[in-house]
Amino acid sequence: MTQEFDELVSHAHDTRVVVVGGGIAGLVAALECAKVGMRVTVLDGADRPGGAIRTAEVAGIRLDTGAESYATRGGTVHALIDELGLADRITTPDAAGAWLVGIPGVGAAPLPKGGVLGIPANPWAPDVRRIIGWTGAWRAYLDRLRPPLTIGHEHSLGRLVRTRLGAKVLDRLVSPVTTGVYSARPDDIDADVAAPGLNNALTRTGSLTGAVAQMRSGSGSRPGSAVEGLAGGMSTLVDALVARLQELDATVTTSAQVTAVAREGGTWRVAVARDEADVEADLLIMAAPEDTARRLLAATVPGLARELGPAPVVEVVTMVLDAPALHAAPRGTGVLTVPGAFRAKALTHSTAKWSWVADAADGRHVVRVSFGAQGEPPATEGLDDTAAAALALAEASAMLGVELEPRALLGAVRERYTQSQPGAALGRAAEVAEMRRTVTATPGLAVVGAWLAGAGLAQVVPDARRETDRIRRAALFGNATETVEGDATA
Ligand SMILES: Cc1cc2nc3c(=O)[nH]c(=O)nc-3n(C[C@H](O)[C@H](O)[C@H](O)COP(=O)(O)OP(=O)(O)OC[C@H]3O[C@@H](n4cnc5c(N)ncnc54)[C@H](O)[C@@H]3O)c2cc1C
Repeated sequence: MTQEFDELVSHAHDTRVVVVGGGIAGLVAALECAKVGMRVTVLDGADRPGGAIRTAEVAGIRLDTGAESYATRGGTVHALIDELGLADRITTPDAAGAWLVGIPGVGAAPLPKGGVLGIPANPWAPDVRRIIGWTGAWRAYLDRLRPPLTIGHEHSLGRLVRTRLGAKVLDRLVSPVTTGVYSARPDDIDADVAAPGLNNALTRTGSLTGAVAQMRSGSGSRPGSAVEGLAGGMSTLVDALVARLQELDATVTTSAQVTAVAREGGTWRVAVARDEADVEADLLIMAAPEDTARRLLAATVPGLARELGPAPVVEVVTMVLDAPALHAAPRGTGVLTVPGAFRAKALTHSTAKWSWVADAADGRHVVRVSFGAQGEPPATEGLDDTAAAALALAEASAMLGVELEPRALLGAVRERYTQSQPGAALGRAAEVAEMRRTVTATPGLAVVGAWLAGAGLAQVVPDARRETDRIRRAALFGNATETVEGDATA
């Protein structure tokens, strides 16, 4: 037994792992390999690790400029934070919640609580009726009287909502949520992926609003939508991951743009832009975004080569404002917009949402404005940073319903993000399953990241752990497929 164990340890120590991409997926995958003693190198093309978890100093305050929270669903991000000794930094957002703006004839109203993807459980609830009006509520109520679908079910979330609840629920409640969360229109979202169980509950209860009520009652008071953050920002998670990796003798190299990968006789050869010699590895974990991952792997894994359409681009302008009018948090923790009503997509009033940001801002306000959605370039596209900040300020003023003079702007940082196609897009789940089969059939390869797992830390972290576990087992015990089929988290 001891000899067997010693052999395993020595085998792990002899296993060289290269992780391409040091976003959260790559760092988590690297940690899983480093933990068992493998020799791990993370290569990231940017000048800092973390990918879409980014931080910047704005008017002297260090702030998240990308991901700012994580969904508590599944508990895996919380567990990772705990494992890294950051549990005492976990914080929850203010309970005020977000508002909806740009509602025709209404303007602004608090986002109703208790729905699923914006679909209400009760169209007559005052907070819902305020947004969809009496006619919208009557139309939605017809859903209770219609026969349920008995044969098959509707995959498109947009068509499902439009048919059963009418255009007002779709345009005023559901579209703002899918645009905010997925940067996509409801028509293009697969209801079964975005809201698993909704169609089955519809068949059981006989109505879509009844299905939402049942799903909400079965899962506690703040299901799915519950999020947490970290005092000091989500980048403290990246810093802690990098520190833990270094303790485990792993190497995290930044400004290391990988330009090619090849597999020769069981060894991966990874070319880095600035280096002459290739990095060699027994295991390759590809953690770069979709376009790069497919391009780098195309020669070795032809099944992953694909012409991609334009990826959604999001630009986020993070501003620090001297604006006493915002002390009252006029729109709660932030706003979602009815698509078409504003040039911006969403806004977060960070000082109203997170107490650690309010403490750091010391009487000033932090507001993040996001631009860009599926099929539409961000309204900031082509503007220089000063003009982008001016547009963000004007949009914030309109969205928050307060006058914000140019002199209120104490500092601004603008960041650009290219996103992958939403995991909940129609047809995407089947495509992802096919890609996973192709990856699993390639010895010594794992692929992780939001483009396969779906966006969001609560999706990316457990997926990276599962996929790394698969390749780790394959390397140490030779059973590559043990955890890839079915739910490895069980
Ligand atoms: C503006 C914004 C806000 C968000 N807010 C939230 C939120 O509040 N909560 C939440 O849960 N999720 C949020 N998300 C989503 C979440 O941030 C992502 O799903 C997640 O961070 C993706 O991680 P990843 O490792 O898959 O990819 P990425 O973070 O994109 O990492 C990929 C890495 O690969 C590197 N790379 C690329 N090409 C190469 C190459 N050739 N060689 C080497 N390295 C390369 C990049 O530099 C990058 O570091 C947000 C996303 C955005 C854009």
